[in-house]
Amino acid sequence: MMYGCLGKILHVDLSSQRIWQEEFDEELMRKYLGGRGINSYLLWRELKAGVNPFSPENVIIFGAGTLAATPAPCSGRTEVTFKSPANNAFAKSSAGGHFSAELKLAGYDHLVIHGRADKPVYIWIKDGSVEICDAAHIWGKIISETHDVIYGETHDIDVQIAACGPTAETGSRIAGVMFLHSAAARGGGGAVMASKNLKAVAVRGSGEVPLYDPKAYLNKCIDARLALMEDVGAQSLSKYGTAGITEVINENYSLPSFNFRTGHIDNCYHIGGEALIDKGYLVGRTACNGCPIGCHRFTAISEGKNAGVASGGPEYETLSSLGSGCGVTDTEAVLVGNWICNEYGLDTISAGAGIQFAIECFERGLLNEQDTYGLKLEWGNGQQMIDLLWKIAKREEGLGRLLGEGVHIAAREIGGDAFKYAVESKGIEQSRVETRSAKGYALAFAVNPRSPDHLNTEVYAEFGATSEAKTLIEKITGDEKYAVSTMTEKRAEIVVWHEQCYAVTECLGMCVFSTTLAFGVTPQMMADMFSLATGVQMSEEDIMLAGLRVNTLEKCFNVREGFDRAYDTLPWRMLNEPLPEGPVKGLQNTPEELNGMLDEYYGLHGWDKKTSWPTVAVLKELNLDEQIEELEGKIGA
Ligand code: SF4
Repeated sequence: MMYGCLGKILHVDLSSQRIWQEEFDEELMRKYLGGRGINSYLLWRELKAGVNPFSPENVIIFGAGTLAATPAPCSGRTEVTFKSPANNAFAKSSAGGHFSAELKLAGYDHLVIHGRADKPVYIWIKDGSVEICDAAHIWGKIISETHDVIYGETHDIDVQIAACGPTAETGSRIAGVMFLHSAAARGGGGAVMASKNLKAVAVRGSGEVPLYDPKAYLNKCIDARLALMEDVGAQSLSKYGTAGITEVINENYSLPSFNFRTGHIDNCYHIGGEALIDKGYLVGRTACNGCPIGCHRFTAISEGKNAGVASGGPEYETLSSLGSGCGVTDTEAVLVGNWICNEYGLDTISAGAGIQFAIECFERGLLNEQDTYGLKLEWGNGQQMIDLLWKIAKREEGLGRLLGEGVHIAAREIGGDAFKYAVESKGIEQSRVETRSAKGYALAFAVNPRSPDHLNTEVYAEFGATSEAKTLIEKITGDEKYAVSTMTEKRAEIVVWHEQCYAVTECLGMCVFSTTLAFGVTPQMMADMFSLATGVQMSEEDIMLAGLRVNTLEKCFNVREGFDRAYDTLPWRMLNEPLPEGPVKGLQNTPEELNGMLDEYYGLHGWDKKTSWPTVAVLKELNLDEQIEELEGKIGA
């Protein structure tokens, strides 16, 4: 019998309608911990190199962490793993909420979906029983309507649902997997679901998670919760949500604005957390399963032409992407844009990046009114932002369809200098962090196997904003003087440590806000909780090594697909244009600076600096034997 993990993987092949269960043992859990780690192992195992992400051979995997559905703090994250249609690379995306807890209570740690149904379907999992249900009547429906229909058909409003929206059904590579008020938005997972004619997965469970030492585990979880709530960052997240940092970042001239041309926007208050409260839009707060922080917000517009718009968020990323990035400080316009993305199933980061890119291309004469449905695109026009977002959401012929492919493809199609204004690398849009004034983030974004974003490695500690952050930087580097984001020294050490910690957090099914944005939950605490929940003894060192193994496995996926050092880069703008104003004026990510950090980073990993690939010796040390078998001959000894 296993503890913590149930040891059960559910497979559903939509082509053949075959449903089967696979069991895994303690050894696999020890090696990859669970959640994200086992998801990544399954993706590696199920795919061969070169599979078209839109083909039935791609899989989409939902994973609950080892500590899901237990009292561990912030243990409500669901990992979604697939090969990305945006860039043909490894993709994992995660969402908050309660889906993973229900999956576990229904009897499964992981769900692997193969094949393609011949007509729209949804999968309904309840306590070990699995049905493939007709979804013709919900194909084309927005997310809230999809939820309502499934609640009705299952006679249960506590069913947890992962769905794709109407934009995913058009094959948009920027469409995410949508949950109730949360999204695994990045990488095009929604489009992978839709390519399988899979509208949704609904889960409900009433089982239990067996724990090795329930009493000691509960005490350890209580300790972790108390430590977390003493952390200043956690207290701030609890009070203001992620929206609370918008104005602070703007004051530091590092709020991506006007398509990353600058880090500052006037009237930022209107797209900050306080405005949402002051103007009466904030109507609720929610928390993911087991979370004492509760950073999620719910907003609604109760009067005027937009009355009835109500949605989860907007989070900081959305406020910056649809707001400052487009030069927009109209609160209500951003709320409407957030609602469109949530209901049509779009990644707000990528959708906003597309609009910013279009405005800049228009301004520079690369697009004209014939391309923009007659819109004279300009910065700061909230209604225009909404109009263009509708075109993307509905994939209207022309620019709307093109931007739904992502800015990498759009820039190639438009041609000329358009690539300079597409703020992306590895084919996916950069998230809303100004890397020119945060060098650790710059390195983390460049090496992220998926895309330039903070969702593989959050190195917030490099700002040294709290005493906890400074203590962590001291632990990693030996001196808190390195808690300065504009330094390049020790960034490789900081990134590698955070990669491991982030991976461990996601393997356990926990939220990285508890470990790498706030710092209350430490790797030692995670090792203790893991050991007491599973009975598999892990020290801090052991668990961080497993995190390193998971990161290396994910790197191997990209090596197998042919990604080399040339892909570990940053958007053109970051590498070629300095920040123009404020205390960060003149800062940029030069190619020389990035290359220096990359050399150090590959060196710490023991990877080949020329190709960026792990060597056979490194894979051996990490017991990644299956990867050696496939990659030997390609990678160095
Ligand atoms: S901190 Fe926020 S995102 Fe993280 S688990 Fe809690 S509510 Fe969810």
